[in-house]
Amino acid sequence: MPDFRDNVAIVTGGSRGIGREICLKLAAGGATVLACARDADRLRETATAAADQQLPGRIVTQALDVTDSQIVEKWVEAMAEEFGRIDILVNNAGITADGLVMNMTDEQFDNVIQTNLKAVFLLTREVGKVMVRARRGRIINITSVSGIMGNPGQANYAASKAGVIGLTKSVAKELAKRGVTCNAVAPGFIKTDMTSVLSEKVKEGVRPLIPLQRFGEPEEVAAVVAFLASTEASYINGQIVVVDGGLHM
Ligand code: NDP
Repeated sequence: MPDFRDNVAIVTGGSRGIGREICLKLAAGGATVLACARDADRLRETATAAADQQLPGRIVTQALDVTDSQIVEKWVEAMAEEFGRIDILVNNAGITADGLVMNMTDEQFDNVIQTNLKAVFLLTREVGKVMVRARRGRIINITSVSGIMGNPGQANYAASKAGVIGLTKSVAKELAKRGVTCNAVAPGFIKTDMTSVLSEKVKEGVRPLIPLQRFGEPEEVAAVVAFLASTEASYINGQIVVVDGGLHM
């Protein structure tokens, strides 16, 4: 388990699925985790789980929408002021609004781009200022194999996740000389609310394509994020780490 004592981490989308496990993993290493999501009640359950498990770190929650530029700016400023530092940023919040491209509405396209791509930019801009001042930081963006391979029915989602890959590499090149690294993790099919809505037919169609023959667990993504956030990953920058059981290779 990497040591995150004294570290302060921001995790977006910390209430459920992969983000929840990332929060718990970082708190297990001793971090103070500042977690956000829109649903305050679900978010508080993550903090309660950390307390129940008597983890050495703690989870501080804030209900907010990551697509709101002004709210994000104010929150990051307030957190930097209160905690004095932000060492780790995990841009995890994400949504899907699937549909075939010729039936896809403007709203479906825009909502997914706003949440999955624009918000990554907003958080990176605001937290980046704090990290550059400290000459230290780790930014980890959650992209997807859809952003690498494309996926029918996910033109909006795949475009947003491919955008995150371009953003990750640009930020990695811009901020490295100021002591900040930026990497991405690209999960394949992971068991969360996001994939639970898929029909059994779709799931059974995908499973044989995965060499490990199973969907991944959120913990298996969180473990990679924790590694990238740790001092052990000091020479890794601008990389896309695929966590998909071998689906894409
Ligand atoms: P879930 O749907 O389980 O959780 C999504 C999280 O994001 C929730 O905490 C949700 O909380 C939060 N969120 C969504 N929109 C916003 C918003 N506007 N502002 C703040 N928080 C928001 O998804 P997963 O855990 O499955 O996915 C996590 C990340 O991993 C996403 O980026 C996803 O694209 C990516 N991913 C997932 C894969 C999978 O198979 N599950 C595969 C590849 C990538 P709330 O709704 O309360 O706001």
